[in-house]
Amino acid sequence: MTYFSADESHAIALDQADPLASYREQFFLPRDPNGDPLIYFCGNSLGLQPKQTREIVTQEMDKWATLAVEGHFQTPRPWYGYQERLAEPMANLIGARPDEVVLMNSLTVNLHLMLVSLYRPTPTRYKILIDSPSFPSDTYAVKSQLVHHGFDPANSLIQARPRSGEETLHLDDLQQLIEDHQHELALVLLGGVNFYTGQAHEIATLAASAHQAGVCFGLDLAHAAGNIPLALHDWGIDFAVWCTYKYLNSGPGSVGGCFLHERHAKDTSLPRFAGWWGNDPETRFQMQLLPEFVPQPTADGWQISNPPILSLAPVASSLEIFEQAGMPKLREKSLRLTGYARWLIERLGSDRYEIITPAEPEQHGCQLSLYVHDRPQELFSALRSAGVVGDFRQPNVVRIAPMPLYNTFHEVWRFVRVLESL
Ligand SMILES: *Cc1c(COP(=O)(O)O)cnc(C)c1O
Repeated sequence: MTYFSADESHAIALDQADPLASYREQFFLPRDPNGDPLIYFCGNSLGLQPKQTREIVTQEMDKWATLAVEGHFQTPRPWYGYQERLAEPMANLIGARPDEVVLMNSLTVNLHLMLVSLYRPTPTRYKILIDSPSFPSDTYAVKSQLVHHGFDPANSLIQARPRSGEETLHLDDLQQLIEDHQHELALVLLGGVNFYTGQAHEIATLAASAHQAGVCFGLDLAHAAGNIPLALHDWGIDFAVWCTYKYLNSGPGSVGGCFLHERHAKDTSLPRFAGWWGNDPETRFQMQLLPEFVPQPTADGWQISNPPILSLAPVASSLEIFEQAGMPKLREKSLRLTGYARWLIERLGSDRYEIITPAEPEQHGCQLSLYVHDRPQELFSALRSAGVVGDFRQPNVVRIAPMPLYNTFHEVWRFVRVLESL
């Protein structure tokens, strides 16, 4: 356990010793009416804007203004192939191979596209297991897929729930559920990091359990991509989907990411919803001359439409920053930053709230979820009035997520001071 002290000087010393401290200057920080930066702990909902992103997007706007259609081929950064060039840095961040990764659509759309290809129910093996609390969009997507295939979600959707009196899930319980339902399960879909509790699941172990039972294993990485180390290829994950506007700082509603393990990505016989951008580029522009769809033997084969450049430009910018900072260093700082927040909060010993996010390093990312027993909404509003931006999830949880790219130890210290005063 790292040594911490509750003195303000300790927070300042931690910032001074932080090798990533200078990255904060690369971001626009939201400010209060006096012009002072707010304590922004909401990057798990919408990441902050890197200053260079504004310039990179403006360059594309200029290209459009001055070159119009020729921007597709004008260097640097021609629009044609723009998405494909991001596959490598994106893949590095999640432990994948470039051919396994595509940036397209948004998370829930990608989840549907993955289910179209990889949820292949039979009359006996058709059930889907998800974790809880589950993000509503995921539940809607999964239920609508079940209905689409003619199943009743009431007896085909299995939800892993915490033990009574607990908030987070046990690995054993998840494994037991997979075993109990092994002959009727078609798919397991888990959140890499749970949006509500901040719990990170033991993905590699669970993927192995699912595969042992012959079950497809997919992940929602909305709260994991850019937050915790991932090795999707080596873990043999079947598919994963994520968004880029949370930990990946690519702007509201920005384009989503999608991973298909090589064994699926290469399989051009997999059924899918097709569009011209998933077609082999060699014949893509034969247009009406070649009406037969020839899928690319990579994750790009799932693209339907031509990619949104104005939405990919912020992703390109963000991935540059992640590459420079490096995920191992970011994770190291994140564990200290969030560990420091936990240590200071627990030291207060309040019985008004408790941290429900697991304490073990492998079981959490940046986020701490405070389960507030008494007047949660008031506590949240008071934090906001004091300049702390977190968020509130019904019915009882205040989420705060210090980000290693732009938050400081001193901000954590100030936040806990505010908490103490409430
Ligand atoms: C943020 C989030 C989403 C968002 O879905 P979109 O399709 O990008 O709107 C989905 N699932 C989880 C778990 C999330 O946290």
